[in-house]
Amino acid sequence: MNKEEYKLYIDDVIRRVEFARMRFDEKHIVKIVAISKYSTADEIKALYEIGQRAFGENKVQDLRAKSSELEELPLEWHFVGNLQKNKINNLLDINPALFQGLDSLELALELQKKLEAREITLDALLQINSAKEESKHGVMPEDAIAIYNQIKAECPNIRLKGVMSIGAHTDDKAVIKNSFETTYNIYKQLEGATICSMGMSGDFELAIECGSNMVRLGSIMFNK
Ligand SMILES: *Cc1c(COP(=O)(O)O)cnc(C)c1O
Repeated sequence: MNKEEYKLYIDDVIRRVEFARMRFDEKHIVKIVAISKYSTADEIKALYEIGQRAFGENKVQDLRAKSSELEELPLEWHFVGNLQKNKINNLLDINPALFQGLDSLELALELQKKLEAREITLDALLQINSAKEESKHGVMPEDAIAIYNQIKAECPNIRLKGVMSIGAHTDDKAVIKNSFETTYNIYKQLEGATICSMGMSGDFELAIECGSNMVRLGSIMFNK
């Protein structure tokens, strides 16, 4: 695709997001974070040139490599992966706009120590394993509110902004919808939360219809 074709293609993705958000609420606003984990710095630049600003990676080393390669561009970087404790310092060196994969109280406490030592804060989302899948990270839905409030109370350098979840891994739309509704219900009960991040290339319209206001789109944004 040349630049003009790519722009038309992305316009169509944006239109789909628009129609989905209108079905939820006319005043609902949805942010697209382009997940670039399967894409090169040149491909990120091409998407930037047609207007995309927020990008995300799921590996700390890839986030570091791509954000430094593209540091001339005014991009907003998100980390959407699982963070191992021995990579916390590497992530903090990059200073991402939002850490979307905070998945346990234990990690939060560890993160808090490092943030405190550096005298900095980090915006983060609590990851919820809404479909209770073995293969996924995140807190159990029934524990989410208590853990969220505990992190808020005990980790002043972590600025919790809301929740993140990955839709149930199945072709059954009702089950996927149920997992999004579970996350949205928790989100609504969190005081001061403003971000409900759910929806990927294969299920973003459904996620938005369930109340998501941040979608993480990888393959569809890069036409893969
Ligand atoms: C890869 C990834 C995405 C994007 O996946 P696509 O299906 O390519 O849109 C979203 N969120 C997380 C956490 C990911 O790892």
